Amino acid sequence: MRIESGKKYDFSDVLIRPKRSYLPSRKKVTLEREYKFMHSKHVWQGIPIMAANMDGVGTLKMAKSLEEHLLFTCLVKNYQYKDLKEHSLNPEYFSISTGIGQQDLKRLEENLSKYPEIKFITIDVANGYSEAFGDFVENIRGKYPDKTIIAGNVVTSDMTQELILRGADIVKVGIGPGSVCTTRIQTGVGYPQLSAIMECADAAHGLGAHIIADGGCTSPGDVAKAFGAGADFVMLGGMLAGHDEGGGDIITETYTSSRVDNESKEPIYETKQFVEFYGMSSDTAMDKHHGGMANYRSSEGRTVKIPYRGKVESMVLNILGGLRSTCTYVGARRLKDLSKCTSFITVSKQYNDVFEK
Ligand code: 5GP
Repeated sequence: MRIESGKKYDFSDVLIRPKRSYLPSRKKVTLEREYKFMHSKHVWQGIPIMAANMDGVGTLKMAKSLEEHLLFTCLVKNYQYKDLKEHSLNPEYFSISTGIGQQDLKRLEENLSKYPEIKFITIDVANGYSEAFGDFVENIRGKYPDKTIIAGNVVTSDMTQELILRGADIVKVGIGPGSVCTTRIQTGVGYPQLSAIMECADAAHGLGAHIIADGGCTSPGDVAKAFGAGADFVMLGGMLAGHDEGGGDIITETYTSSRVDNESKEPIYETKQFVEFYGMSSDTAMDKHHGGMANYRSSEGRTVKIPYRGKVESMVLNILGGLRSTCTYVGARRLKDLSKCTSFITVSKQYNDVFEK
């Protein structure tokens, strides 16, 4: 046993220091990026924000809506090539997802043979540190040399490099920071997300590969911090959940408010709308996709009710507006320059919450 004593940072430990700049307006900021992926050699252009492959987020409707803004969607595992074809998605802006089981491999191979236009494959496991996972990535790289492979999740530079050398173009980074994740509570395992991004980005960029900061963003400011820390892509679950495109049922609940009707003196009732959102390792997901939780496992995800938020477009515009503004605060003309222009300062308070209590 040993302890590493160097401080590691989360989004909530830092702010971005403003700097003098010549940038006249946030309108002048370019958020589009162009990447050439290391193994597939594919050249991609777009705004590098991704919807997570989670129920209620990584849906076909979400992909259709996000591609209009040049944003990317990692689709949930259970789609078949027929569903993909029906929605005529632009292959530049979506990835299919797979686990590493025999059934997963069969479905992946079938989807790729029936729909060869698919360009991105996300190989996704909760714990990217197993040898079997590395073997699977290597096997898929060998079979599909021109597909862009996203693989994760890991949080350290050694495993980022291992996955890249095994064939991943993009490594997904994050263990335990997610909004509906209980891994840190259930296992005690994790890594503060800002430090994980910085260290894994450094490791990947040295080899010519890319990383995704996956999980833990709760506001446009966190997305900006993730890019500032060196992420090439930022993946969002909770921030894109609760919208029409996620397809969940809208739950309407009636509350007795603290206000009283002046004439009848009866309490005034209010209704609020919610959507259920859950982690992909939660009991809810296990019931839905695997017919229940196997008894040697325990849930590492929670199920929550979040306010229904209408169309996703308003959230997208809010995130992109925030990012452009960050860029103007630090003098970055392009999102590409944001990490170069970022100096983080460590803080003990993020913002003034006096009216939130
Ligand atoms: P968020 O943006 O909601 O903070 O994080 C989204 C990420 O949380 C996903 O992309 C995925 O990596 C992770 N995640 C999703 N479901 C679960 C779960 O049930 N357990 C854990 N540990 N992580 C999850």
